[in-house]
Amino acid sequence: MEALVLGHMNPDADSILSAIALQNLMTQRGFKCKACAQGKPTKDTAWALDKFGFEAPEIITSVKDQILFLVDTTDTEQLPNDIAEAKIKLVVDHHHLGQIFTSEPLEMWVRPVGCCATIIKEMYDAYKIEIPKNIAGILMATILSDTMIFKSPTTTDADIKAVEELSKIANIENVKEFGMEMFTIKANINLPAIELLNKDLKNFETKEKCRFSIGHLEIMSIDLIKDKKDELVAEVKKLKEKNNLHTAALMVTDIEKEGSILIIDSVAEEKIAQNLNCKIENNVSDFLPGIMSRKKQITPTIINCCA
Ligand code: MG
Ligand code: MG
Ligand code: MG
Repeated sequence: MEALVLGHMNPDADSILSAIALQNLMTQRGFKCKACAQGKPTKDTAWALDKFGFEAPEIITSVKDQILFLVDTTDTEQLPNDIAEAKIKLVVDHHHLGQIFTSEPLEMWVRPVGCCATIIKEMYDAYKIEIPKNIAGILMATILSDTMIFKSPTTTDADIKAVEELSKIANIENVKEFGMEMFTIKANINLPAIELLNKDLKNFETKEKCRFSIGHLEIMSIDLIKDKKDELVAEVKKLKEKNNLHTAALMVTDIEKEGSILIIDSVAEEKIAQNLNCKIENNVSDFLPGIMSRKKQITPTIINCCA
């Protein structure tokens, strides 16, 4: 039976491009599988797909009775509703461990690096399988996307080394220039506030059933959303109310200044402000220097403040 290679909801570059690369690697290892996605590629992902000659993966919403190879998430909140009825046989991830359950043994590659694509590169090496040129291209694009061209605190030496080696295989000389081209597309903010919030929104639920949602917007400068701030605040408030959440937030990261602001509505606003050592006024935090990672910095803070 053919396995489905699948990433998280509101798929980013890692959830789509790493799924395609993992399909290639696992096929070369002799497993029948196909990359899928839980949504359409974002503009930057579409750019990379086009550049390296790949089609967008088929969109799926149900995984009942399927065999799954998961990439970039193990959170049931970010997987199809019938995830409990799928058989997970492989996990490649770089997030906190989520709530998936398996009844049979599985293969897991989970490491705290900047991107799943880095782990997949290491899998190719471990299995001594050659990386095709166009696969090297999408793996490299994915690492640059997930690590914000190595500026995110999630970046490790393994990510930098992987890009070095992949750029040679893909024959891309100027890695920075390549990354900036992709980010200029990723950072497009000419969208309605609701779409900016939903573009990279993740839902979480803790063991204690504390539910929260965090969106992440990575842009060249926070000044670019100045005129949209009020609308974004309104959308964040609506999201919290509609889903009866503990916290709804949009993290807006300034790639140049290497920090973020949080647009936030939370029952624990004061505690969160204390934890982040900042002020939150009218649902907007001060600029938080060095805060660029949702998974490593903001999600753990909110989980701490759930208790
Ligand atoms: Mg992701
Ligand atoms: Mg990722
Ligand atoms: Mg991200």
